Amino acid sequence: MNESRQRELICATAKSLFDRGLTHGSTGNISTRCEDGWLLTPTGSNLGSLDPARLSKLEWSGKLISGDPPSKENFLHLCMYQQRERSGAVIHLHSTYSVAVSVLADVNPDDVLPPITAYYVMRIGTLPLIPYFAPGDMKLADAVREKASRHHAVLLANHGPVVAGSDLAAASDAIEELEATARLHLLLQGHETRPLTPSQCAELRKRYPVA
Ligand code: ZN
Repeated sequence: MNESRQRELICATAKSLFDRGLTHGSTGNISTRCEDGWLLTPTGSNLGSLDPARLSKLEWSGKLISGDPPSKENFLHLCMYQQRERSGAVIHLHSTYSVAVSVLADVNPDDVLPPITAYYVMRIGTLPLIPYFAPGDMKLADAVREKASRHHAVLLANHGPVVAGSDLAAASDAIEELEATARLHLLLQGHETRPLTPSQCAELRKRYPVA
């Protein structure tokens, strides 16, 4: 896909996420690999009103090639790409229900959400919790990098999800599935539930491996 089409797709995806309340204010950031570097939404930008021509274009060192200065959370994306050669896109949101789950006490830090539906297992699978770090603390990058080689999706405690995909549509589908599942999980608090069994999950993973 050529770069101008990629730029248009980033802006269309961002607007769709923003318009449906999946992120708010100037939170959230989206990136894709391109032929000679990568594209990222700029710092302080509102995902509902991005300009394709002003997206940050970066080298793999993180240096800005063109466009507005990149999101300060650019290192979250870089960690995913460095550890996942086949990932073509990364989305990070402060989506309400996922953030709510990231604040729950007594979750399993190796896998925060139960396998409620087949689509959750197919698009996310396991979701490790990354411990809380203050904004700007580079220990967060180390913690994400450590998980990223084995997981395309992670949940930052008291912050939000970071999800990679083979392309932007895959990353967007996955992070939306995560948000919907977080919402279901909260709706089900206090109810007896019947999640998928380990053998049902294993069969899905075999049939639908996540990129
Ligand atoms: Zn964030």
